[in-house]
Parts: sequence; structure tokens; C-alpha cells
Amino acid sequence: MIPFIDLQAQRARLGQPLEDAILKVVRSGAYIMGPEIAELERQLCAFGQAPYALSCGSGTEALVLPLMAWGIGPGDAVFCPSFTFAATAEAMPLVGAAPVFVDIDPATYNLDPVSLDAAIEAVKREGKLTPKAVIAVDLFGGPADYPAIAAVCKKHGLKLISDSAQGFGCTLDGQHPIHWADVTTTSFFPAKPLGCYGDGGAVLSKDEGFHDLLVSLRVHGQAVKSDIVGKTFEHDPKYLNVRIGMNSRMDTIQAAVLLEKLKIFEDEIAARNRVADRYAQGLGDIVKTPTVQAGGVSVWAQYTIEVPKDVQGGRDDLGPALREHGVPTAVYYPIPIHKQGVYSGYPVAPGGLPVTQAKAGKVISLPMHPYLKEDDQDLIVAAIRAFVKKNN
Ligand SMILES: *Cc1c(COP(=O)(O)O)cnc(C)c1O
Repeated sequence: MIPFIDLQAQRARLGQPLEDAILKVVRSGAYIMGPEIAELERQLCAFGQAPYALSCGSGTEALVLPLMAWGIGPGDAVFCPSFTFAATAEAMPLVGAAPVFVDIDPATYNLDPVSLDAAIEAVKREGKLTPKAVIAVDLFGGPADYPAIAAVCKKHGLKLISDSAQGFGCTLDGQHPIHWADVTTTSFFPAKPLGCYGDGGAVLSKDEGFHDLLVSLRVHGQAVKSDIVGKTFEHDPKYLNVRIGMNSRMDTIQAAVLLEKLKIFEDEIAARNRVADRYAQGLGDIVKTPTVQAGGVSVWAQYTIEVPKDVQGGRDDLGPALREHGVPTAVYYPIPIHKQGVYSGYPVAPGGLPVTQAKAGKVISLPMHPYLKEDDQDLIVAAIRAFVKKNN
């Protein structure tokens, strides 16, 4: 079977230095908040064009932390797509707030600014929830329409989070999402474009006071500089907890892994784009290949196609047919979040989410990683062409 994502090929390329970096942490004893953490945060700032970066426990907690920092909670609405991984929407109930689901653009699968504006207007009219923030998702690695989304946020006075768990490293007109967003979050889950060897995440932001608040929230609401400046204490202020936070530290070992992976990440993004270009050349005339936002560069977390309506069996038969040729596929995402039982009580944009609904029934993702061999890719393309021809 051709690997869907080949982390072992990457590990072989990283070689001994990666294993040495892990062993160094093991021998140092600095398992939590070791020096690799600060170095990683410095490099994430440089890579992501952000003034501040905070490492944390996961991509999910990376979304929860800024919501906590803004004091978003019960009675508040945060707008997000329904065509995404559950964690995007889960962050809101975790702080007591409500997700409001917005439809997507049919070409890019990312947040539709028109549906977003209509959803915000509707929530305001109804007057039950207070709009506070928007989470745009760089689905499958491609940037959302940030200029348009940021304009809607500005019009309504809302904060903007870029959930770049799948898209960390993507750009639009040469800018990373933080150029438009107040906050960019990402996940270092192993299968993401930039992954570690366990769970991890990061929050990129632009304002020192806000970043300090995240630092405090990451470790149980501990007092930070601004909490203690000009005050005197009977005890070490290290154990002064001035707000309700959590434990969302990243392990030092994971930071060490990420520092090694960052060295080759730009090169891997280029390789992913070469693979995507070859897929488009091989398949563009027979299936719907992905569209990236104009001016954008995707990091291709997934390569997702749609089988045309007139192909018998469609997506549901294509998966098993490819498997017979040793080609794995995956469907992201078969059930939109607003159709999942626990989320079905939350509001959706006026008129429902027809594009989301349609896409959930059509999309299928192909093997995608920087180390996909041309021979293997040719086999995948040939198998898809044969299926479409046979069933057309
Ligand atoms: C993976 C993912 C997350 C959550 O990241 P974890 O590190 O698994 O918690 C959030 N949003 C999106 C869009 C994701 O793909």
C-alpha cells in the first residue's frame, strides 16, 4: 500500500541529528520548559512573520487560550465554518460560548465572507448572543480569503482567529494569515504539515500584553510581569495565581523535534506544491482538482478532489476501487459539524449551509506528502483515470 502520509520517509531524511536532539533533552532532564521551548517560539515568530509566539499543548488548546484571554464565554457567539475538523467548533463550548456555523466558498472550501456577514447580522437581529470573534480555517492547507473576512470582522468589531492547524506556512500575496488575523493558531499533531512526535500546538499573536496573558493562562493563571510590576509580595510570586488558566505546556522533547523539522519545512512545502502540480496536470481534465485562493500558496495538508456527478458510483466507489490498486484515500469530512448530534443545537447562517452539505457528500482526499514518488503518483493518477473512464 502506498502511504497516505509518509512520516518514515521524513524521519529517514532527518536522520541522526533528530535522534540526537531528542536524546539531548532526555539527558538534560529539562523535560518541561527546557531551552528548546524558547528557541522554538523564537523560530516560529521568524517563520510565521509574527511578533509573538506561544507553544502549547495542542491545536485545540491553541484555540481555547485566545478565547479565554479575550474573556469570551456564556452568551457570546464565535463564527466558524462547519466544514472543518471538530476542534475548530469545540473550542467555543469549552469556554461556555456558542459556535455559529457559516457556509463555505465552493471553490476553496474556506469561510464564505458573504455567509459570514449574513450570520453576524442575523445573530445581532435575534439579540440572544453577542458576536465576539470569527475563526477562519485554512482547510486542507490553503489560505482563507483573509482580506474579505478581515473586512467583515472590522465592520462588526470582531476578533479574527486564523485556525491554521492544516495551513501553517500558507501565504496569501506573500503574507502569512497573521497579517490579517489577530491570532494564528496551529497544531503540531504528527500528520499535520508541520508535526511533532506527539501532541503540540502554538498561538501566534501581535500584542505584548495579549501574549503575556496567554503565557499566564498556559500555566494555571500564574502571575506574569504586568501582574506583579510595582507590587511587593510576602511569598514568591511564581505561586501567585491571578486568573483561572490551565496546563497547556508543550513537552521540551516535542520542541526539539520541531526545531529539526523547521530546518526542512520550506523545502517540504515546495515539494508538496510540486506533488500538487503533478496531480493537477494528471487529473485536472477528469475530476475537480483543488482551487487555491487567488494569490495564495497552499501547504497541501490534503489533496482533495471531487468526482463529477455523471461518474457512476462517484466518490463512494472510487475509494474501494483505488484500494484494490494499493492506493489509500480518506474523506475529510463526511459529516459537517453542525450535523453532528452534540453541535446540532447551535445556530447556522441564514438559509442553512447548502455548500457545506453538498461538499461533504463529494470530496475525497488522495495520498499527499513531500516524499511521494513520481512512480507512485503516476500509478494513483492512472487508477483514477481508469475508474472515471470505466464509469462514465
Ligand atoms: C487538527 C486540527 C485542530 C486540532 O489540533 P490538535 O492538535 O489535534 O488538538 C484544530 N483545527 C483544525 C482545522 C485541525 O485540522
